[in-house]
Amino acid sequence: MEVFGTIEDYGHEQIIFCSDKKSGLRAIIGIHNTALGPALGGTRMWKYNSDAEAIEDVLRLSRGMTYKAAVAGLNLGGGKAVIIGDSHKDKTEALFRAYGRAVESVGGRYITAEDVGTTVRDMEWIHMETNFVTGVGGAGGSGDPSPFTAFGTYHGIKACAKVRFGSDSLNGKKIAVQGAGSVASHLVEHLCKEGAKVWVSDIYEDKAKALCAKFGAEFLPSDEIIAADCDIFSPNALGATINDDSIPQLKCSIVAGAANNQLKEEIKHAKMLRERDIMYAPDYVINAGGLMNVASEIDGYRRDKVLTQAEGIYSILLSIFRMSAERSILTIEASNAIAEERINAIRHIHGNYIGRPNINR
Ligand code: NAD
Repeated sequence: MEVFGTIEDYGHEQIIFCSDKKSGLRAIIGIHNTALGPALGGTRMWKYNSDAEAIEDVLRLSRGMTYKAAVAGLNLGGGKAVIIGDSHKDKTEALFRAYGRAVESVGGRYITAEDVGTTVRDMEWIHMETNFVTGVGGAGGSGDPSPFTAFGTYHGIKACAKVRFGSDSLNGKKIAVQGAGSVASHLVEHLCKEGAKVWVSDIYEDKAKALCAKFGAEFLPSDEIIAADCDIFSPNALGATINDDSIPQLKCSIVAGAANNQLKEEIKHAKMLRERDIMYAPDYVINAGGLMNVASEIDGYRRDKVLTQAEGIYSILLSIFRMSAERSILTIEASNAIAEERINAIRHIHGNYIGRPNINR
């Protein structure tokens, strides 16, 4: 792998390789862009097959965080970290404390949080060595982000309905929800309360059936949800479910849900959706409620403020749809452009982040 060439292609400011032989720590912190503020993003623990695979992952994930924070209107940059290891076997206090020292050494340019393979307990070990960590349990902690992700996604779906159907009321709208996990559970509650006709699927059928029973939704087997005869398809399970196979089967007018990386190939599949006249709400925009929640922890957690911010995803999406129509570009291209324009406008004021600001100012 040509390391510097790859880093330049992604546009990163800094990559930090962290090693501690005794505890077994092998971690990489990726700081993509700090023009708007410190780089916030979780630490993923994964059994990568090679160092190159771990580098690719940290570069891709940390760049994604730059766009997500910028469009969400947060004063945060984009960062992410990976720890190379098996999260079921390799976790020790020493490893996470060694990692916490590494985070501390970056001086606040990077603030970490949970991600795939890491938990609140791991954040607490990190916290023994640094304050640059969120998602720590107890008083002042922001807790489970999924209700906030769901709340923002719900308002995002309403924005889509406003543009596509002329009204943001979801009363009577037919909505197919893929996944019955943490985010979907809260989302289904909002949708059912508003009078939508909701179908839910999950590969664990009992989970989906229990959710349906609780809120008056209807169960669909997971191989039938994509082709459901609905107004809105809401992916809330894993990524890449919008692809060559699924797009021709969709019967909806809107794709809007919280799952990360919904489009298997971003531009190709966004174009395929547009060719079928299906509106797409960019995933990293509509699911930013969870990031807003974690971000609030940095300067004193305030639930009411997070809810107001998450509700604002409605107007953020309206401006993305407006720009997409005015410039004749894909919605994902519009959201990327909004992020880049905001970063470029602020960059000359701040430059790179080197101190700790009040991000909620
Ligand atoms: P989760 O693990 O609680 O739920 C995911 C559910 O999807 C599980 O119940 C799983 O069985 C189900 N599933 C997997 N494949 C499926 C398939 N093919 N068909 C139907 N169901 C399937 O995860 P979550 O926290 O609810 O997150 C859901 C999605 O939202 C993920 O893509 C996640 O990255 C994204 N997201 C979550 C948050 C958050 O706050 N939790 C924030 C931003 C983005």
